Amino acid sequence: MKEKIIWPNKKKFAFTIFDDTDRANLEDCKVVYEYLDKLSFKTTKSIWVEQSNEKNYDAGITCENKLYLEWLKKIQKKGFEIGYHNTTYSSSKRQEIDKGLEKFIKFFGHSPKVMANHSNNKENIYWGSNRLSGLRKIIYNILTCYKKNNYYKGQDSSSLYFWGDLCKKNITFVRNFVFADINTLKKCPYMPYKDIDKPFVNYWFASSEGNNSKKFIKCISNENQDRLEKEGGACIMYTHFADGFCKNGELSKDFKKQMLRLSGKDGWFVPATTLLEFLREKNQNEFINNNQKANLEWKWLLDKILLGST
Ligand SMILES: [Zn+2]
Repeated sequence: MKEKIIWPNKKKFAFTIFDDTDRANLEDCKVVYEYLDKLSFKTTKSIWVEQSNEKNYDAGITCENKLYLEWLKKIQKKGFEIGYHNTTYSSSKRQEIDKGLEKFIKFFGHSPKVMANHSNNKENIYWGSNRLSGLRKIIYNILTCYKKNNYYKGQDSSSLYFWGDLCKKNITFVRNFVFADINTLKKCPYMPYKDIDKPFVNYWFASSEGNNSKKFIKCISNENQDRLEKEGGACIMYTHFADGFCKNGELSKDFKKQMLRLSGKDGWFVPATTLLEFLREKNQNEFINNNQKANLEWKWLLDKILLGST
């Protein structure tokens, strides 16, 4: 078992959020982020650089909207992190990805440091069955009827969707496994880690399941918050703030209540990259070994089968 981490400024635990931008609109974003800011949470908001011509259930606002882009720059100035969620909500080929990354740098002053693959985009990197290895991969393929086997091409240099080298050059942290536990670090004590079989990703990190407002609020129940604090752990909550947090411009009462309670604790509330960079300094073994990897993969597969984790 790893020793308890001593957090900066003697904080008792760490908590942040990675907001997946699916279905986002500016009005609701403003409501959510004003509240987070008021409570002094500085978290990570992912974005899409541009719109797609393809109709898509996940479609949401992108940086092509000037007012949105202005607002993103404003929250970035306040200390929120802008993360990457691929170029847009549908698949992009290498050239489009390259241009998209350039735009990101132009908008926000630097490459995106942190990202999560978006759903079914073909350019997703080490995604689908490639998230797993060995027997876990076989089980996953059987469960998904092989639909996600060799479908994602971000790491495949023979594909039009290849951008592995650009990922390596631009992005530091990529999300893989999401667990139901509030204490992400307890489930994945190795993070951020390198995987020798996935050379185009610099470091991987895990997250906690807060996919929509219901799951998020459940994950930060009083009991779970108290345990996260007691364990001195770290939570990187993965969520879609567009999914049930706001109704007619009003923020969910339960979300507000639970976040207010959490903000009253002596936690380190910094963006995902700040947290991951701090953990990286502490990590002595950057590369995950095969036993550790198998252990993570089994835990995730079990969560996925039982709870439908992301
Ligand atoms: Zn997404």
